[in-house]
Amino acid sequence: MITLQGKGVSRGIASGRIVFFERSNFTVEKKLVTDVVGEVERFKAACITASSQLSDLAAKIAEKVGSENAKLFEIHRMMLEDSDYTDPIIKLIESQRVCAEYAVMEAGGRLAQDFAEMDDEYMKERAIDVKDVSHRVISILSGTQRDVTSGPDPVILASDDFTPSETAQFDRSKVLALVSQAGAANSHTAIFARTMGIPAIIRLGASLSMGFSNKQAALDGETGALYIDPDEKILETLSEKKKRIDEEKALLEKFRGKQTFTKSGRKIKLYANIGSVADVGAVIAGDAEGIGLLRSEFMYLGRDDYPNEEIQYESYRAVAEKMAGKEVIIRTLDIGADKQAGYFGLPHEENPALGMRAIRICLTRPDLFRTQLRAIYRASAFGNVSIMFPMISSVHELRMSKKIAEKVRNELAEENIPFNEKTPIGIMIETPAAVIISDLLAEESDFFSLGTNDLTQYTLAVDRQNEMISEFVDTHHKAILRMIKLTVENAHNAGIWCGICGTLGAESDLTQEFMNMGVDELSVEPSSILSLRSRIAEM
Ligand code: PEP
Ligand code: MG
Repeated sequence: MITLQGKGVSRGIASGRIVFFERSNFTVEKKLVTDVVGEVERFKAACITASSQLSDLAAKIAEKVGSENAKLFEIHRMMLEDSDYTDPIIKLIESQRVCAEYAVMEAGGRLAQDFAEMDDEYMKERAIDVKDVSHRVISILSGTQRDVTSGPDPVILASDDFTPSETAQFDRSKVLALVSQAGAANSHTAIFARTMGIPAIIRLGASLSMGFSNKQAALDGETGALYIDPDEKILETLSEKKKRIDEEKALLEKFRGKQTFTKSGRKIKLYANIGSVADVGAVIAGDAEGIGLLRSEFMYLGRDDYPNEEIQYESYRAVAEKMAGKEVIIRTLDIGADKQAGYFGLPHEENPALGMRAIRICLTRPDLFRTQLRAIYRASAFGNVSIMFPMISSVHELRMSKKIAEKVRNELAEENIPFNEKTPIGIMIETPAAVIISDLLAEESDFFSLGTNDLTQYTLAVDRQNEMISEFVDTHHKAILRMIKLTVENAHNAGIWCGICGTLGAESDLTQEFMNMGVDELSVEPSSILSLRSRIAEM
């Protein structure tokens, strides 16, 4: 047994097979083979597996967001059956006696290049499809998995680090736990894991090596210990701990279905943070009273192109309907910084967290913003929807954003499309500037939600992605607590409510302080709802 120690960022016990998540820009070694016929057969078998993965994916996507979006996977599947794709690969294996992985990379790469050089725009774009198909086949041949949904059993997923766009693609039912070499406690990967209630360990360092691929492992997401080939004793200890955690959870069941009140009778809104429709199940299981933060940008990640109005509308509507009248706060696009989608074509920036992100992108690309707002307003006819703008730092930005929202309302009204005219518009308070002018912002907002992850980053000048400075990140810093207090006071003076949707909101050692400050709402990962409700009941 080998024990690796990292930092636990999402509580829970897991055991299973480790699979390494594979990046797209990987290199393949040129290996010579003696059994050429066998190698061709291996390639053909990989094509069959890839084809069945793609059929499954197409079916899933069609069910989730409509058959139009599943077409791409059908095209990929057909490519695998096309001799224009397969013949050059087979020929290369036979003529140069090279391994199938190398032949796919070489011949597939040449075909992609041919497409890229075509004049026709449509054909040019097919280059990316050829690359994608080749990558899938190589992944199957080499036994690494890019698409964790493809294996039959759920796995412990390992990587150097996971980007938000990668986590956005995971089929959650296939991930037992996440383990990474690097990572920051407030990164979106950690947030994703906590939202899903998936145990996670970060910062395991280089000792988490690819050599552990396919080995059995067990882990404790609280202590940050990862055991490779765990012995009986460890498995027993972990299983006892799991039993204890389950018992604790069972004790909290008496708080299910209740509202959240302090001992003195003050009502607190206890909401959940989510990234997509797929998370609503966790919200309902966690017994949240609403959704305080839907990170809508996750819908834009892990795709090749912008989600259109229809896709977004279907998705927001599904969340609103599933929440059956409970409040759903949809945060408008907060892309940029660590959340990158290639097709946005965002330029390289020296300091992306201080650059083109969130509301700044929406205000400079109003068509993009308009499409999203149309989708949200249309969904507002089917539930209790609110809109929230991220990273507002001036009254001017708020007014410009509201103006675009007003334009969208007028358009919809003219087109006779139903929507809730009274959809509340709130803002995230996540820059020190917003805190200082929160009295002015409150006059023009329906509610505030404190994004303490970014507020901490911008106030303490600590990059939330930079693990090197983690010892300098004091999330309980007096500056942050005073800022929260000031924001709540200014909100209340203007007669609006103020909540916290950053990670700090779930820290139970601060709950009493938040209650004393008058915080009205806490939006946390779904799995924390019942324990927080029980805690608040004692306050
Ligand atoms: C925050 O900054 O606290 C927040 C909730 O937004 P995100 O973590 O998505 O940046
Ligand atoms: Mg933020």
